[in-house]
Amino acid sequence: MSNGTEWSPSSWRSRPIAQDVHYPDAAALKKTLDRLQTLPGIVTPSSIAHLSSRLKDVAQGKAFLLQAGDCAELFEDCRADKVEAKLRLILMMSLVVVWGARVPVVRVGRIAGQYGKPRSKDKEMVEIDGVRKEVLTFRGDNVNGFSVNDRTPDPDRLTQAYFHSSATLNHIRGLLDSGFADLHAPLSFTFDHVRDQTLQQSYEDIVDSITDSLDFMKTVGADPSSSGSSDQGTLNRVDYFVSHEGLMLEYEEALTREVRGPPSSRRGPEAGHYNLSTHLLWLGDRTRAADGAHMEYFRGIKNPIGIKVGPTMKPDELVRVLDIVDPDCVPGRVTLIGRFGASKIEKSLPPLIKAVQASPHASSVIWTSDPMHGNTVSPPSHPSIKTRRFEDIVFELSASFRVHAECGSRLGGAHLELTGELDEEGNSVTECVGGSMQLGEEELQKRYLTHCDPRLNAEQSLDIAFLISHALKS
Ligand code: PEP
Ligand code: MN
Repeated sequence: MSNGTEWSPSSWRSRPIAQDVHYPDAAALKKTLDRLQTLPGIVTPSSIAHLSSRLKDVAQGKAFLLQAGDCAELFEDCRADKVEAKLRLILMMSLVVVWGARVPVVRVGRIAGQYGKPRSKDKEMVEIDGVRKEVLTFRGDNVNGFSVNDRTPDPDRLTQAYFHSSATLNHIRGLLDSGFADLHAPLSFTFDHVRDQTLQQSYEDIVDSITDSLDFMKTVGADPSSSGSSDQGTLNRVDYFVSHEGLMLEYEEALTREVRGPPSSRRGPEAGHYNLSTHLLWLGDRTRAADGAHMEYFRGIKNPIGIKVGPTMKPDELVRVLDIVDPDCVPGRVTLIGRFGASKIEKSLPPLIKAVQASPHASSVIWTSDPMHGNTVSPPSHPSIKTRRFEDIVFELSASFRVHAECGSRLGGAHLELTGELDEEGNSVTECVGGSMQLGEEELQKRYLTHCDPRLNAEQSLDIAFLISHALKS
C-alpha cells in the first residue's frame, strides 16, 4: 500500500497517467473493456506462480533470466513461421548459456502482448498525398495503426490485442507440447544461414556434445525419457513465459482477476489479484514515476514485475519505488532492468546498486541488463534510421557483469530486443550494426524490418549468448 490508500484494480485512475491515450469515443472504449472483463485469462494464476518460483531461484543466484523479443509486435506478425523463428532463437540462446555455463535459464519472451509503445512525442509531421500534415505518432498496434492514415486511437484494437496474444501463446504452447524444444533433436532448431562460420561451428559443437551426452545416458540407462522414470519429459520440453510492458492500464485492469482463499496445493497461487494477460509485466522508463498511475496499478498485482531503470533514476527514488511495489521483500518479485547506455553505465549503476544493498530489498531484487535502450543512435550516413552498435551493446552488458561483481552484487539476467525473423530468401534482419557477421552501416537498409526499435538478428543474438555464457563461467 502506498500513501496509505486502498488498492483496487482501478485505483490507478485517480493518479497522473503518463503516456495516456485519448479515445475519441468513450462509449466504444467502455464496451470494449466490458467485453474484455468477461473473457478468460490468457495465462493462469498457477503459471504466474510458477514463474514467481523460478524468479526466486534467479534472485538467489541459482538461475539466469533471459528476457527477449521484439521491441513491438504487430498483429500481422502473428504467423506460425514468425512465432517459431522467435521461439527457436531464444531456445538456441538458452542452450548456449545452459550448456556453456551450467546455469539454468528462465526464458521470458517479449511476446504475446507486446503491442503498446511509449513515445517521446505525441505528434509528428508526415506527408500525405504530397501535403505536410501533423498526425498522432504510432503508439503500437493495440492503439492505432502504423499507416499515417490510421492514427486515431481505436478501442477495438485492445480486443484484437487480446485475441492476437491468445493465438500467439496458443501456438507457442502447441510447439512446446509437440517437442519443439526436445533436446534429443536440438539440430531441428539450428540455423543453416548463419553467415559467420566460427559462430555456426561453436553452436554445432554444443549440439554435438549434447547429442553425445544423451547417447551416453541412454546407453547406461540414465536417460529419463527412455527409462519411464517420473522425470520423463524434462529433456523433451522447457518452461517458457511471456511478458509485455504494462502501458495500457485500461487493458491491464480489464484482464485482472481475483483469486480468493488459501492455495489449493503447496505450489498453487496465493490469494490476490493476478493480471492474466501475461506472466510478467514491466514498467517502462517513461511511466515509472513513484506517484503515477502505472506504479499504483503495479503495486497491487501478484505477477512478478520488471522496472526499467535509466540514468535519470536517483538512488533514494529507487528505494522508494521498491518500498511501494515490494514492501514484503519477496525474492524475485521485482526485476530491475538497467538501461543506461555504454557511456553512462559505469557512473550511473554503482550508486543505485549501493542504495539497494543498504535497503531491506538487498537480497530480494533481481538485477538485469537491457543493453539496448540506452544505445540507440542515428548514424550520420542514415540520419532517418535508428540503429544500435553491437560494440556498445557488448560494452554495456559486459560492464554490467563487471560493475555488479565489483560492488559485491550479481547480474541475474539480460533483457534484449532481438528477432530470429528471416526475409523470403532466408536472410536475417539488418537493424543493428557490427557483430561477428560485421554488419556495416551501408547494409542497414537491406532488411530493416522493425516498426519500432532496432533488434539484434540471429547471429548477433548468438554472439551475445556466448558472451553471457563466458561471463557466467568466469
Ligand atoms: C522498450 O523496452 O521497448 C522501451 C521502450 O524501453 P524503455 O522503457 O527502457 O525506454
Ligand atoms: Mn524498444
